[in-house]
Amino acid sequence: MIVQMKPHATKAQFEHITQFLIKKGFEIKDVSSANIMVFGIIGDTKSLNPTDLEAFEGVFQVTRVSTPYKLASRSFKKTDTIIKVRHNIEIGGDQFVVMAGPCSVESYENTFEIAKAVKASGATILRGGAYKPRTSPYAFQGMGVDGLKILREVADQFDLAVVSEIMSEDMIETFEPYVDIYQIGARNMQNFHLLKQLGARTKKPILLKRGLSATIEEWLMSAEYIMASGNDQVILCERGIRTFEKYTRNTLDISAVLAVKELSHLPVIIDPSHAAGKYSMIERLSMASYAVGSDGIIVEVHPDPEHALSDGAQSLKLEKFDHMMAALRNMSAVLDKKV
Ligand code: PEP
Ligand code: MN
Repeated sequence: MIVQMKPHATKAQFEHITQFLIKKGFEIKDVSSANIMVFGIIGDTKSLNPTDLEAFEGVFQVTRVSTPYKLASRSFKKTDTIIKVRHNIEIGGDQFVVMAGPCSVESYENTFEIAKAVKASGATILRGGAYKPRTSPYAFQGMGVDGLKILREVADQFDLAVVSEIMSEDMIETFEPYVDIYQIGARNMQNFHLLKQLGARTKKPILLKRGLSATIEEWLMSAEYIMASGNDQVILCERGIRTFEKYTRNTLDISAVLAVKELSHLPVIIDPSHAAGKYSMIERLSMASYAVGSDGIIVEVHPDPEHALSDGAQSLKLEKFDHMMAALRNMSAVLDKKV
């Protein structure tokens, strides 16, 4: 439920109604701007009657949010959320943010070579999995904490931020010193315990991938879990969904970006690598992602994809990544965001 105060409502009137609601057990989310006081009522608001609340002095309008997600919804917060990462990166603002790196961290040397190249080509965030959710238990499972240390050490040398996937809440304290963004993988999008624990235990941004067969509403409900637990720094990531089509690894739902922009204020990026599963499609899909208005992309890159420990078929060689970045920059004259 959203409560909008009158233009000349006083701070005391605001306090009066919010304290009344807090005493009833609701949580208040203040989203006031410079000229208008507005707040959301968080909790099971079925018992509240909007007309009763409109009787409070200073209240202009009380509206129910019709979507099951509230904190994540555009009706709750009209302006786009801009998420700051470290000192120099903003996701959801006027920058088209490029995250790049290997599927898995393989070694210090390999990570160094990739980071150096992607930085020179214009990426600002280094990706890399240290804990890998593999379909087979016999496939490479990741380097673990050593992988996180490598990511941090290498990223710092090139002033890159780090994003890496966390699979279990047991690992939050381990991850905290090494990552700038926590990634929740597609397979964990509905791991509600992980969502709640991360929401409550870190203030760092969380990149929430869309589940393999999740609807947009389910995806936004997962964002809501994180936000309701105390962290509103959520970045959504469309990474392809499973359809009947087998030629590509998944089907990139490019219109999901537009849907999310209508339904939510949260930033949304695209992962063309896991969507297509084929390196030959990545440049064009990245261009499409930029053109459709996403806030960035996350792309897998490897100097020697044939020998990559995971996802080589969809990884761009360093020079192909550089070519893709040039193609994106060529588009920037006609788009709002800059690469
Ligand atoms: C990954 O980014 O390497 C990954 C496993 O992605 P997803 O969760 O989208 O499959
Ligand atoms: Mn991968």
